[in-house]
Amino acid sequence: MPRQDKTPANSPARLSLISRHLAPDYPINTPYTVERHPDTIDTSLLPKTQTRQLSHSVAMSSQPPHPTLLIPGPIEFDDAVLQSMSHFSESHTAPGFVATFGETLSMARKLFQTTDPASQPFILSGSGTLGWDLVAANLIEPGEDVLVLGTGYFSNGFADCLRVYGANVTELRAAVGTKPQLPEIEKALAEKKYKAITVTHVDTSTGVLSELENLSALVHRVSPDTLILVDGVCSVACEAIEFDGWKLDGVVTASQKAIGCPAGLSISMFSGRAMNAFQSRKAPPASYFASMGNWTHIMQNYENKKPSYFATPSPQLIHALHTALTQILAKPLSERFALHKAASDRIKQAVADLGLKQVAANPDEQAHGMTAIYLPETVKQTAILPSLAQKGVVFAGGIHKEIATKYIRFGHMGVSVLDPRREDIDRAIKALQDGLSECGYQKA
Ligand SMILES: *Cc1c(COP(=O)(O)O)cnc(C)c1O
Repeated sequence: MPRQDKTPANSPARLSLISRHLAPDYPINTPYTVERHPDTIDTSLLPKTQTRQLSHSVAMSSQPPHPTLLIPGPIEFDDAVLQSMSHFSESHTAPGFVATFGETLSMARKLFQTTDPASQPFILSGSGTLGWDLVAANLIEPGEDVLVLGTGYFSNGFADCLRVYGANVTELRAAVGTKPQLPEIEKALAEKKYKAITVTHVDTSTGVLSELENLSALVHRVSPDTLILVDGVCSVACEAIEFDGWKLDGVVTASQKAIGCPAGLSISMFSGRAMNAFQSRKAPPASYFASMGNWTHIMQNYENKKPSYFATPSPQLIHALHTALTQILAKPLSERFALHKAASDRIKQAVADLGLKQVAANPDEQAHGMTAIYLPETVKQTAILPSLAQKGVVFAGGIHKEIATKYIRFGHMGVSVLDPRREDIDRAIKALQDGLSECGYQKA
């Protein structure tokens, strides 16, 4: 579709280039929204220089002024985390880097709250999705049964990944905005013996928070051999997770969400039970890069400060993660979780005060690092997101295929809720109030 040349400076089309969440009809192209609009990327609208500023962008820290990124990952970065990426180049087997990587792996144990020496951390180059491959390729053998708790887009993705490696997947799907409940999970576990159960701790497509502690207790009671595997990509470092205390077998996450590090690292923890399941496989995993066989000794060597090589890690990202984890662990994790909850409560109250509903309707099932907000019927995503961007705030569009155009997602993790010098949350709430009224919305 040809585009008019006379696009005004802050037109929605122009702003869409900043967030990439503002494509004409669908907020984001996903495997479920296959229309890849030819004009989603219109290079004629790209800023001429990298330093072009939005009129309403806000100076924060030493970073160039930019719209505040309040999507459910990537999140805003702390200066020190970002700056640690400009480390000079060093060999991935040099003592300095080996020590940094080793400390980062040890800190990962603290992040997941495990002291069991049998627990095994993995920090691999890749995004959060690589965690699914790690689970599916190594812990499940073709034909084995896996029960997937269906909460939305991300649990569907986990299920798809498991199928790719030959797992026999049963999905227990809940209605949009809810999660499967313990009695039905108990029933499913009683009907079949599952090698593993997977749960998406926070399904980022709906903002639904799943319970891990009670779920794990249930699984241990009714199906004690079943591995409990958690997608914690949108929960690790903003929701409480006690790896040992709750007897979890695997938690996979990524660098760019609540951990607040640039994207590019898959970070995971597996229990001794999970590692035994890998060791006792009948056939080797059907993946080379994601094989635990190739990585376990590498991780153990690095943690013991011994140089090691299977595939080159990203020293710059490991430096950033080292800084992020050092900051996270400088205070009790419980304090971090409480601050995320306090910010979340405030946001959810503001959403209710606006007369809006959340996708996750039940307060007990609402995530604390993000909020998925249904739009009023009269307000289009394609109007409100550009309006917010104009006010210097970037929210994400919907991603759940059944409701994709009907809601928006507000990510509130990391420095945006923890750094008292920032006023990201207040500005975002104000932008949402003003944006909705500019779009003609008035509370009924
Ligand atoms: C973001 C996300 C993923 C995918 O992570 P990528 O880094 O985009 O590959 C998986 N699961 C959940 C719950 C997520 O929020």
